[in-house]
Amino acid sequence: MGNGTPSATRAVGPRGETRAVPEAVARHVWVRAGGRCTICNRYLMEDSATGQEVPIGQLAHIVGWSTAPGSPRGDHDLPVEERNSAENLMLLCHDQHRVIDHKSLWEVFDVDTLRAMKRDHEERIRRLTGLGHDNRTTVLRVVGNIHGRPVELTSSSVTTALLAKNRFPDWILRGADEFEIDLRAIPGESASSPAYWAAARSHLEDRLRHLCTQVRKESVNHVSVFALARIPVLVLLGTYLDKMLQVDLYPKRREGKPVWGFDELGEPTRFTSHLLRPGNDPARVAVVCSISGSVDIDRLPSDVRDTHSIYELRPDSVLPTPELINTQATLDRFSQARRTLLSTIEVDHPGVTAIPIFPALPPPAAITIGRHLLHAAHPPLHIYDRMPGSPDYIFATSTEF
Ligand SMILES: [Zn+2]
Repeated sequence: MGNGTPSATRAVGPRGETRAVPEAVARHVWVRAGGRCTICNRYLMEDSATGQEVPIGQLAHIVGWSTAPGSPRGDHDLPVEERNSAENLMLLCHDQHRVIDHKSLWEVFDVDTLRAMKRDHEERIRRLTGLGHDNRTTVLRVVGNIHGRPVELTSSSVTTALLAKNRFPDWILRGADEFEIDLRAIPGESASSPAYWAAARSHLEDRLRHLCTQVRKESVNHVSVFALARIPVLVLLGTYLDKMLQVDLYPKRREGKPVWGFDELGEPTRFTSHLLRPGNDPARVAVVCSISGSVDIDRLPSDVRDTHSIYELRPDSVLPTPELINTQATLDRFSQARRTLLSTIEVDHPGVTAIPIFPALPPPAAITIGRHLLHAAHPPLHIYDRMPGSPDYIFATSTEF
């Protein structure tokens, strides 16, 4: 093959001259680079303009192959006989190759910089191509019209969050809407009207029936949930997620990148529950969840306030805050405290037929409250919600089917 003809096994110099590289060395570099440009990540086994499947990548020397003055980075002390080794060659597209070998840029693309680029690229390719079927997860985004704010929940921000957890996305639940479950077109959300709750619930059921079918066909066994919606929607969502499913929750971070996901580090918070106020009917029990903020029991409806025994689930020895559940370990502890409280109620209040619940909960905790509920012997939850701008709780929906 002559000059100017792309070849997978020739290294190209700054003036287009090529040098043969041993087949095994070339294969080594191509495979480690995943067939992609080390700098721009372009796929190099096909010409994007014509769609023809031809190798368009070039093997580029980090330390120039010659010590002559015109050889990019060629004055380095790497012995000449090692310059055609896989360690000294990187896979590039034609454009990036021109850039790094351009004389005015030799100092920008010095030997250390290029070696670091090669290392980063090859490590990334190895990690990504190591993600097998077990690392696949089905993306489930649930979006309501929270305060009318736009949400940064693009497929690329989802993918970034998943890759940080060694997962890659499967979009099988994607429908005609922007998100897998898009509640934004349903009217009445800010008024928390009964019609809104009925419509939101039937939309959730409808979309999640599709998920259940996939779970039964065993094409889905792991789901990653990105949810921003009214808290009662999220509790309902939790009840619909099949108990056989493995579910990872990705909360929206208040700040920092990636935008979605738990923090890795941090001492987990403990949770506790206690009887806040005894009632006069042992078969009537209510639960207030003071996690993201404190629930003021004077804001509960009077029929609950005056008759029910009211239990509170809250963090132990710290104040409730919206950022409280910021690690998976803390969420797990919250889930445990929730189970303990429900068991206590079951033992101490055997006649309970439904539990009104007043949530001040961050989204992952709301979903967790709903999970496994159907399959346990627990009474259904009647979920209350606060209207935006109003301190009073009103009934929203229930987990009864
Ligand atoms: Zn490139």
